Amino acid sequence: MKNSQDSALRERAARVIPGGMYGHQSTALMPDGFPQFFTKAEGTRITDADGNEYIDYMCAYGPNLFGYNHPDIARAISAQQLKVDAATGPSPLIVDLAEAMVGMVTHADWAMFCKNGGDATMMALMIARAYRGKRKVLVAKKAYHGAMPWNTPRPAGVLPEDRAHLIYFDYNDPQALEDAAKEAGDDLAGIFAAPFRHDTFADQSMPDREYAQAARRIADKYDALLIVDDVRAGFRICRDCSWEAIGVRPDLSAWGKTLGNGQPISALLGNDRARAAASKIFVTGSFWFAAVPMAAALETMRLIRETEYLEHMTMIGESFRQGLASQAADSGFGLRQTGPVTLPMVLFEDDPDFRIGYAFCQAALQRGVYLSPYHNMFMNAAMTCSDIAQTLEATGAAFEDIKRSRASLKPSAALTALADA
Ligand SMILES: *Cc1c(COP(=O)(O)O)cnc(C)c1O
Repeated sequence: MKNSQDSALRERAARVIPGGMYGHQSTALMPDGFPQFFTKAEGTRITDADGNEYIDYMCAYGPNLFGYNHPDIARAISAQQLKVDAATGPSPLIVDLAEAMVGMVTHADWAMFCKNGGDATMMALMIARAYRGKRKVLVAKKAYHGAMPWNTPRPAGVLPEDRAHLIYFDYNDPQALEDAAKEAGDDLAGIFAAPFRHDTFADQSMPDREYAQAARRIADKYDALLIVDDVRAGFRICRDCSWEAIGVRPDLSAWGKTLGNGQPISALLGNDRARAAASKIFVTGSFWFAAVPMAAALETMRLIRETEYLEHMTMIGESFRQGLASQAADSGFGLRQTGPVTLPMVLFEDDPDFRIGYAFCQAALQRGVYLSPYHNMFMNAAMTCSDIAQTLEATGAAFEDIKRSRASLKPSAALTALADA
C-alpha cells in the first residue's frame, strides 16, 4: 500500500495545522498506517491521497446514508446552486424542509435548521433552560453530544463553570436518573436521554423501555424538557425519531449527520410545549439558512420516505455481522457485536488494551476495507451484497493474519499515550 503522498501532506499539515489535524477525523487514535487524507468519495468507496481505494464503514462518521455523491441528491444540489444558496434571506426550501421533517417525525410540531449536530444540541440546551428559566440539565455519563465547552470529551480549555449545572447519570438506569432529577429538584430544566448508548471503546446498548419511560415521566413530573440526541442514529434506526420505536416521545430531538447525505445541515425538532421557549432564544449562523444543503436534505428525506433504504441497509448490516461472527468463530476469536446492525460496533473479547482490534483493522485496511477499532461504524444504503462479499474476503484474511501474529501483537502507541495523558 502506497502512502508517500499522505506522509508528505502530514508533514505539511504538521506545520500549518495544530497537531497536524484535530477533532474526530484526526487519525491520532487509529491504528498506524491509516491514511489521513482522501481525494475522492463515490458510492461506498473512499480513495486516499495515494490512490488506495477502500470500502468505507465510517461513512464520514455518519453523514453518508445513501452513498457518496448519490445521483439524485447531486442533481438537487447542482440545480439549487444555480438559483440561490446563502443569501440575505432564506429560500422557500426552509419551509418545505420544516414541513417534511415535521411530517416524518411524530413528536415534532416545528423545526429549526443549523449546520452541525453540536448547534442542534446547544439549541436544545438553551431551549430547555429558556422553557421555565431553570438551570439543571441531566446528561448520561460519557454520552457524546458535540464538542462545545459544555460537552466536549477532553478537558483542555474547559472550565468547571462551563458544566456547573450539568448532572451526570448512568445510561439505562432509571434509578440513577430519578436520583439525578431529585438532586436538581425544582431547578431541573431538561434531560438529554441519548437514543442508545454509543460511547467509544465500549459495547453499545439499546435503551430499555423502562429507562425511556422513566425519562419521560420524570421530565413531566418536574416540568422539564426531554431531549433525544438523534444526531448519530437519526434515520439509521427508523424513519422517525429513534425513540418512536420504543413508544417514547421527547419534547426536542437533535438531528444532523445523515440529514443532507453529507451536505452541511442539522436540525432541532420540537413539540408545541417547547415552541414558546424556542421562539425566545437568539441563535443563528451565517450559513444556517443556506438553500443548497436544504435542497440536499429535501431529496434525502424523499429517498428516506420512498425507498426501502432502511430495510436494505438492515439486511446488509445483518450479513456483515453474521459474516464477521462466523469468521471470528472459525479463527478462534471472541467478538462482541453490539448496537443496531446499521451502526455496527465490533470489539474483541479478551482485548483489554484493544491490541487485537487494532491489528485486525490494520490488516483489513491493507486489503481495502476501512473499519474502526474503537468507534461505532455506519452502514449506508449504497452497499451491495457484493461489497459485503468483498469485505468478508478481506476480513477473513485479516482474521488469519491476526491469528498468526496474535502472540506478538503490541498495544497501540496512540492508545498508550492517551491512557498516560
Ligand atoms: C456527532 C454527534 C454530535 C455532534 O454533531 P456535529 O455535527 O459533529 O457537531 C452530537 N451528538 C451525537 C450523538 C453525535 O454523534
